[in-house]
Amino acid sequence: MDILKRMMHLRDIAAPLESSIQSRTANLQRVSKHTEDFLRTLPDRSVYTTPGAKDETMQAMQVSTGAATLEEALNIVECFVDGVGHNLGSGRFFAYIPSGSLHEAALADYIAAISNRYAGVGHAAPGVTRMDETLLRWLADVVGYPSTSEGDLTSGGSLAALSAIVTAREAFSITSQQTQNAVIYATSQTHHSFTKAVYVAGLGECVMREVAVDQDQRMNAKVLEKLIEQDNAAGLKPWFIAATAGTTNIGAVDPLNDIADIAAKHDVWLHVDAAYGGAFALCTDGKQRLSGLERSDSLILDPHKGFFLPCGTGVVLVRDGQKLYNAFNARGVYMQDVEEDPERSPCDLSAELTRPFRALRLWLPLKMHGTDAFAAALEEKLLLAQYFYEQVSAIPGIEVGSPPDLSIVPFRYVPKSGDADNYNRLLIDAIVADGRIFLSSTLLTGKFTLRMAILNYMTHLQDVDIALTVIKEKITALNEVST
Ligand SMILES: *Cc1c(COP(=O)(O)O)cnc(C)c1O
Repeated sequence: MDILKRMMHLRDIAAPLESSIQSRTANLQRVSKHTEDFLRTLPDRSVYTTPGAKDETMQAMQVSTGAATLEEALNIVECFVDGVGHNLGSGRFFAYIPSGSLHEAALADYIAAISNRYAGVGHAAPGVTRMDETLLRWLADVVGYPSTSEGDLTSGGSLAALSAIVTAREAFSITSQQTQNAVIYATSQTHHSFTKAVYVAGLGECVMREVAVDQDQRMNAKVLEKLIEQDNAAGLKPWFIAATAGTTNIGAVDPLNDIADIAAKHDVWLHVDAAYGGAFALCTDGKQRLSGLERSDSLILDPHKGFFLPCGTGVVLVRDGQKLYNAFNARGVYMQDVEEDPERSPCDLSAELTRPFRALRLWLPLKMHGTDAFAAALEEKLLLAQYFYEQVSAIPGIEVGSPPDLSIVPFRYVPKSGDADNYNRLLIDAIVADGRIFLSSTLLTGKFTLRMAILNYMTHLQDVDIALTVIKEKITALNEVST
């Protein structure tokens, strides 16, 4: 029987896929050495390293018909992946929005991948679904949402925003005929992923109103209300406000209570993008700064930012959970066995069916450290930002705005003569080239501005002091060159 012989032969070739306890133990030890080497050297690693030639990298990464050792594979990872680009996990990464990489979250990913629960369907993995729900309930409490709310753990803020806007679209029955009359309100500071979500949700033809911001880049609620009244008078349909609790640019929190009043009065869906800022609701000071967040119809927040998780976890919460369900529940005949399940499955509340077990990477760190540790770390970040703001404003020539709403501080140096934008461009290049800290820049009312974003659990006073030292050194050096 040729077929039997062939099967035996194929089975022999594929045999290494089935790991033995010896190989698993050895591999785990080797991987553990790899990750410990990384963590041990992280404080001394440059926060940014430029990659080598692309061809060379891709050549090295090539997979082939034959096998390589774990040793060889890890060397490639070290050299071509971990050795280049940003070191997001560093306590001196102050660019964009920093992310953490809690070790317990990495262990959770490992555990989840080993048992490989089918996380999309409650019937298949009731424990996973209930852990999802436990965390979403807890998050709803943290932000002040009622028990009618439901949510979803997504891959990040962008897809969480997509879920929110699709939910609102269905709740308001915005059909394709109506999009051209339906109005969405946002500001110049709204994250670009929101605009993308609008397009992906098939709402690209909606009228997009850019609501003016005040001098601190917060949505001007008076202007918002005037625009809504004008649009109503013109026969348009105002239906969606995209407010932000912690803009990516400078951490500005829109006046959420004023906006919630307007949304309620005019029957408009209020969505709050708290992807960056939402986690601060865990500490008392932060919760006050986010007052009004609890009055929104939907919100997003990113545990891979404020809860210090490695990349890959966002959250959407919808105040009236039934609306999230209405927008996303669906069934196929091959799922008839799960039909009777009285509990909601993540797939009923999401565009995804098959999905990774995301809850565990949030749950394990929270469970093991307790939420007090997170609240303390977050309050520390608020204080570090305040400290940085005070210290950086004291540097002669540095211009800052109002005190930070959260943990991002924009600043720029205004030279006695010459082009300020150009100067700040040189300044950030010099800071990044130095390698001790990593900052990024933005445009603020058209001006080239540096920004200090503090959000890593490993960032403490000494790291902020190093940042101040580097900034002062580079200003001194630049001024010496120009005189
Ligand atoms: C990061 C961020 C997003 C996008 O979230 P991703 O997780 O990167 O998809 C949206 N809004 C704000 C305010 C953010 O900071």
